[in-house]
Amino acid sequence: MAVVKADGYGHGLSRIFTGLANADALALLELDRAGRLREMGWSKPILLLEGCFDKPDIEQALALRCDWVIHNQQQLAVLNSVLPLLRHTEFKPTFYLKLNTGMNRLGFDKGQTQAAIASLTDIVAAIGAPTPVMMTHFANADASDLHDTAVSPAHQHARLMDAKPPHWKACLGNSAAILNCPDLAGDIVRPGIAIYGASCGPHSAADYGLRAVMSLKSEVIAVQSVKKGQYAGYGSRWQARQDTVIGVIACGYADGYPRHAPDGTPVWVQGRRYPLAGRVSMDMMTVDLGPASEIKPGAPVELWGNHLPVDEIASASGTIGYELLCAVTPRVPCLIGS
Ligand SMILES: *Cc1c(COP(=O)(O)O)cnc(C)c1O
Repeated sequence: MAVVKADGYGHGLSRIFTGLANADALALLELDRAGRLREMGWSKPILLLEGCFDKPDIEQALALRCDWVIHNQQQLAVLNSVLPLLRHTEFKPTFYLKLNTGMNRLGFDKGQTQAAIASLTDIVAAIGAPTPVMMTHFANADASDLHDTAVSPAHQHARLMDAKPPHWKACLGNSAAILNCPDLAGDIVRPGIAIYGASCGPHSAADYGLRAVMSLKSEVIAVQSVKKGQYAGYGSRWQARQDTVIGVIACGYADGYPRHAPDGTPVWVQGRRYPLAGRVSMDMMTVDLGPASEIKPGAPVELWGNHLPVDEIASASGTIGYELLCAVTPRVPCLIGS
């Protein structure tokens, strides 16, 4: 089950759609995006990861033939209130009952689980829906240095298996669980970041054998010779330690490049990496090309992609690759397959 929330982690649903043709199911949370997937011709299951919150949601989910997560008492109550509707629709959704196993975000707590299972069992029997699936989300499948084992993947897995009726399937693994603890990933897995070729930690994407789907590219648009002691960019954060050449690149925070990237963050220009020099501005950034640079305006630049893992830029900027991929702004033109 490929996770395509946030418009396919910022890649754009229509752009990644053909690449996902072999997935068994897609998962997201926005009903309108589920509608887009149906318009594009997706006929296999779609799972709504946050479920349906009211009757209009349920009507729309049924019309779009979506399965959905049930993670709290209110959602069960709403479902119970629309049983006549569900009895008469031809499409019968598969419900994913979500347990809170330590993330404390969504899901039924330990004390509520058996009642929720009983209630959902009655509902599916009443409407003739398929056997539900039991689901949870790991809080720490990426952690190599976990101190509190009460929130370890093994513990969360055991909690779920204890509660799960034997004939229900388990839907557990995100990318980190699939790659780091596959034994705990369950019958149905939900990879997100890995299918876009970025890392979920603790290892690099390349170590996991992943290749970047997105490359953020630009060009050098100007070069400046600066003398030792001169500065570059707003606030004069960066100062030249020697006479050097500054390359000006057409990409800034208005494109989704992190403004808080520090000096030294790598930028790939025409075949090798150069350090960011000075604050990222709205439309431009500056790099130190070195004193003997021959680089001219028009030189190709990669901000992240296969020459430069997005995770490296993210970690330099105090965030994760997920956030950078999702944050590319609509003004950035997209070229597919280039
Ligand atoms: C986002 C999400 C995933 C995918 O997580 P990745 O770390 O990107 O693999 C899986 N399950 C749920 C419930 C999610 O919200």
